[in-house]
Amino acid sequence: MEIEIATIGGYEEVGRQMTAVRAGNDVVIFDMGLNLSQVLIHDNVETERMHSLDLIDMGAIPDDRVMSDLEGDVQAIVPTHGHLDHIGAISKLAHRYNAPVVATPFTIELVKQQIESEQKFGVENDLVKMDPGETMSIGDTGQVELEFVNVTHSIIDAINPVLHTPEGAVVYGLDKRMDHTPVIGDPIDMERFREIGREGEGVLCYIEDCTNAGKQGRTPSESVARRHLKDVIYSLEDYDGGIVATTFSSHISRVTSLVEFAKDIGRQPVLLGRSMEKYSGTAERLDFVDFPDDLGMFGHRKSVDRTFKRIMNEGKENFLPVVTGHQGEPRAMLTRMARGETPYELDDGDKVVFSARVIPEPTNEGQRYQAEKLLGMQGARIYSDIHVSGHLNQEGHYEMLQALQPQHVIPAHQDMKGFSSYVDLCKSEGYKLGRDLHVTSNGNLIQLVE
Ligand SMILES: [Zn+2]
Repeated sequence: MEIEIATIGGYEEVGRQMTAVRAGNDVVIFDMGLNLSQVLIHDNVETERMHSLDLIDMGAIPDDRVMSDLEGDVQAIVPTHGHLDHIGAISKLAHRYNAPVVATPFTIELVKQQIESEQKFGVENDLVKMDPGETMSIGDTGQVELEFVNVTHSIIDAINPVLHTPEGAVVYGLDKRMDHTPVIGDPIDMERFREIGREGEGVLCYIEDCTNAGKQGRTPSESVARRHLKDVIYSLEDYDGGIVATTFSSHISRVTSLVEFAKDIGRQPVLLGRSMEKYSGTAERLDFVDFPDDLGMFGHRKSVDRTFKRIMNEGKENFLPVVTGHQGEPRAMLTRMARGETPYELDDGDKVVFSARVIPEPTNEGQRYQAEKLLGMQGARIYSDIHVSGHLNQEGHYEMLQALQPQHVIPAHQDMKGFSSYVDLCKSEGYKLGRDLHVTSNGNLIQLVE
């Protein structure tokens, strides 16, 4: 059976991930993401109203025109998890393919919300839920099967999809860390990865996210970030002024820990900001978390400001607002607070807890610097970097290669510079550039079996 890989997006950047795998006449697309920084660099761009071709020109969504060079029919569109760089282009591109979107329940719910907010295209693809550990037959040959292997990442319900073909398995390994003690959900299923490496024809190809390949050692578990956060929040128990925390809205485990520790030190947690309400509300509705009944979540400007007024009236010392804005995003809640645009007044000595790391990218770094400076000018004390990454470090990458023993490796989810450490690791494991180690860019086809 012919096996071909189309590297469509996310091979020259972090963002707008999209890869297609053809097995005979059946094609499966993995991820359809948005490169948010290409959008945010422009002022006031509303992607909901924009046409795909304009967004492709901006470098915001994958240029999927290479799909016309790939023979066969698309049978499924499979986003691996709910981060925007993996699902953010579904509302712009999925309608071009006569295929269902297949993903885990939390991811499907986020895709659904995105399709509902889309204003330019009518996206009517079926949305099919599949749990980690489950499989689905692809096409009518009876020879190709899709499997979801449970992985751990900085968002719940993440998987690595595996396409089983008569020529071996194609493992799409984007976005995971090896967490054996995650705060929510099951540990990464390394046992299954090891089985896949040994069974049948083994692994034909492994497509891997190289994000932290240059970092030595292993990425700590979410339970380590949780302990760090607990230490910081508990240390503030006797402080009788304002404490504000911020983290990734989609990081449900982290938000859960913040809510819990706020309660522990006798403060009422409250989630503020549009995306805080969206992700935590969705996780609660789908029973991934069980928040306290009295936890307030407010997204709309008016209800947020009303909550801030209530906090000021009843005393800042009784609350712990968890807000958006960990990267200093200009329109996020913390940045508005820093600029003095909300009814919440910061006083000398008030604490601001960043349970996030600055995404190393000039726009983020500049915005975050500005937000911290503004907070500091109001007297706030900053606690930063209470975080662990959602991506594998070097030893995790090594362990994955050991478990899967892939015949071919394709580095992804980075630019050329970002690939280099992963390429070095693969070379030390006996892979050779151009033979079985394929460094590529957006818009290419790699035929693995002719
Ligand atoms: Zn991710």
